[in-house]
Amino acid sequence: MKTILVTGGAGFIGSHLCTRLVNEGHDVICLDNFFTGSKNNVAHLAGKYNFELVRHDVVFPYFAEVDEIYNLACPASPIQYQIDPIQTVKTSVMGAINMLGLANRVKAKILQASTSEIYGDPVIHPQPESYWGNVNPVGFRSCYDEGKRCAETLFMDYHRQNHVRIKIIRIFNTYGPRMLPNDGRVVSNFILQALKNEDITIYGSGNQTRSFQYVDDLIEGMIRVMNTDDGFTGPINIGNPNEFSISELAEKIVEITGSRSKIVYKPLPHDDPKQRQPDITFAKDVLGWEPKVQLQEGLIQMVDYFKKYVV
Ligand code: NAD
Ligand code: UDP
Repeated sequence: MKTILVTGGAGFIGSHLCTRLVNEGHDVICLDNFFTGSKNNVAHLAGKYNFELVRHDVVFPYFAEVDEIYNLACPASPIQYQIDPIQTVKTSVMGAINMLGLANRVKAKILQASTSEIYGDPVIHPQPESYWGNVNPVGFRSCYDEGKRCAETLFMDYHRQNHVRIKIIRIFNTYGPRMLPNDGRVVSNFILQALKNEDITIYGSGNQTRSFQYVDDLIEGMIRVMNTDDGFTGPINIGNPNEFSISELAEKIVEITGSRSKIVYKPLPHDDPKQRQPDITFAKDVLGWEPKVQLQEGLIQMVDYFKKYVV
């Protein structure tokens, strides 16, 4: 069994990853500054002999003897990462430097949770890993997009220069239980609005597309990537290629919840990508992985979870 550090472990994805790793018997250190994460997300792990929760900001160095590091610390919702864009850049860039430094020092393997956002508003569709992207370097999303791009650069440079064993995964829109009600991303917003019979807020025309992945599929893909041979670095796309317009998503959620909500249209945020779909040929070939949970099934589970927020 290994000692594994999960930064951002009290966040949405991190909490699912910690749960899986603890259940497998690994010694798990969950490190978080609780900016968008919550102790509640890992409350079910508290008291387990192989789980430890540490309050720490990855902008500052951290030391522990570990075998593996999953670097997830960073707010992922556009609303959240734009609250303090300078801190978002610091988290991505200095967090990567600090965690890579730790990996280098203790000879740990390290996986970076990168993102489909590094493709920006893509002109190649679907997006293969070989695509360099179309990113605005000075816009409102840049703190996140460019921060994550720079983190990828750092990962590759620590690998080439210091021989750190790295893995980069590019995660596409992921949803599931433990997203916080104030997260601000589309699936949690729409489900909460539908359950409360409040207006469903489509930004722009609703013709923009995303490809939604259920969190369990991501966790499986992530662990498979960590377990690849040392020579494998990625980047590798991990996402569900089934693509939906935001209007289709809203309609599905209204249907599943039986909601009386009306759809209302709000301004499209700056630099909102028009389309997004992962090309997962590489993941299928290298990992023998593909997503299993389709949107309808995943939404039903998420709706069930979100009912607790509606009185
Ligand atoms: P999240 O906001 O729920 O989780 C991020 C976690 O990181 C939170 O617990 C937060 O408190 C913590 N954190 C933020 N800044 C920190 C800092 N400076 N030091 C320590 N902890 C810090 O988001 P998520 O959806 O769980 O995303 C997790 C990771 O996956 C992020 O790196 C994100 O960029 C990446 N990702 C997610 C998606 C997605 O669709 N969910 C898509 C692409 C990439
Ligand atoms: N969106 C929307 N209504 C909302 C939240 C988001 O129409 O209440 C749109 C947003 O403009 C984007 C898409 O849904 O086109 C996905 O947004 P999200 O913030 O979930 O993630 P992104 O992929 O943009 O990072």
